[in-house]
Amino acid sequence: MSNEHEIGVKKAAELLRQGATMLEEACPICKMPLFRLKTGEVVCPVHGKVYIVKSDEEERIVKRNLELDEIENILIDGLYANAKKIKEDPSDSEAILQVIRYLDALERLRRIKPSNSQ
Ligand SMILES: [Zn+2]
Repeated sequence: MSNEHEIGVKKAAELLRQGATMLEEACPICKMPLFRLKTGEVVCPVHGKVYIVKSDEEERIVKRNLELDEIENILIDGLYANAKKIKEDPSDSEAILQVIRYLDALERLRRIKPSNSQ
C-alpha cells in the first residue's frame, strides 16, 4: 500500500466524520472514491478539490476555462510589468501603449470567459 493511498484513506475517514458523502465517482488521477462536502464541493481525499467531468465535451470546456484563466494571468503580469515601467518613467510612451493593449486584450478575454470564474 502506497503512502499516498494511506493518507487518502485517513483523510477519507476524516471527511466522513465531518459529514461528507462518499460518491460513486472515483478521482480521475488516483481512483480513490470522491466525497461531497456539506458545502457541495466535491473533493478527492488525496488531491483535494476536483472537477468531475461526465463527458468529453464537459472535459473540453473545463480545460478551456483553465487555459483562459492562465491567459488572463499572463496578461495581468504583462500589464503589471508595463505599469511599473510607467511609474519609473511617466514619459515612456511605448509602455503606455503596451498598457492600453493589455487592458484591451483583458477586456476582450473577459467577454469570452464564462461569467462565474471568481
Ligand atoms: Zn485523487
